[in-house]
Amino acid sequence: MDTIADTLSPMLSRLQLSAIRDQLDNLLDEATRRDFTLRESLAFLCEVEIARRDQRRVAMGTSIAKFPYVRTLDGFDFDAQPSIDPKQVRELATGRWIANGDTVLLQGPPGVGKTHLAVALGREAIARGYAVLFTSAVNLVAALSKAALENRLEEKLTHFTKPKLLIVDELGYLPFEKDAAHLFFQLVSRRYERCAMLLTTNRSIGEWGEIFGDTVIATAILDRLLHHSHVITIRGESFRLREKRRSGLVKPALVESPN
Ligand code: ADP
Ligand code: MG
Repeated sequence: MDTIADTLSPMLSRLQLSAIRDQLDNLLDEATRRDFTLRESLAFLCEVEIARRDQRRVAMGTSIAKFPYVRTLDGFDFDAQPSIDPKQVRELATGRWIANGDTVLLQGPPGVGKTHLAVALGREAIARGYAVLFTSAVNLVAALSKAALENRLEEKLTHFTKPKLLIVDELGYLPFEKDAAHLFFQLVSRRYERCAMLLTTNRSIGEWGEIFGDTVIATAILDRLLHHSHVITIRGESFRLREKRRSGLVKPALVESPN
């Protein structure tokens, strides 16, 4: 018996079944306790190994994605945000739109949960095996502009085109320089119909000419982004301000203005 135990561990290591190796005694005891057949026991061990790998893959994918904070769909209070259809968000969480290379546009004033939903949908995408990268519009454009100056634009465009889902947060908080609008257009064109994008913005589509400082470019960008798109418009006041007001930290008069 001892000799089998002694040889099992290195064999499991060699097969890279580390989850089974690390918990072998407990897992076998449990299989015995639950009266598993040999076939059931094998399935049980495989499940444990797969669960560990999924967990690692998600942890790795999440660290590569560079989310600004940790947020989940479970942590989103849909009752507090009646302008959002939970069914639509749950459908997006399946990732079908990512497989199709569609665009999701989350529109709304500050504090209504756009970034929260973007991060939560990004995590769902990672759990379904998609590579995700999160960036703010300002950082994206700064990175592309810098690369263009250093003759590395091609490399940078590839960097932002590779992930199956690119999340661009806070589009429109600052207007783009003309060159920046061109760079953004190049990226959108490359990703078009192959890779999905999720954008959050505080501006309505009618105002995109102002964001990009050029209506021709704005139209060309919108044309591609909106071709296969899912638009979620969030209304209402900032979640944080409302929570503060509820707890009496902010007086109602202070939260009258939308910003
Ligand atoms: P923005 O729309 O400006 O991107 P955020 O998504 O960053 O706003 O939301 C601001 C804060 O409020 C975050 O901490 C977020 O988790 C929280 N929040 C916003 N809406 C909700 C909600 N419906 N349920 C739970 N938390 C929310
Ligand atoms: Mg935000």
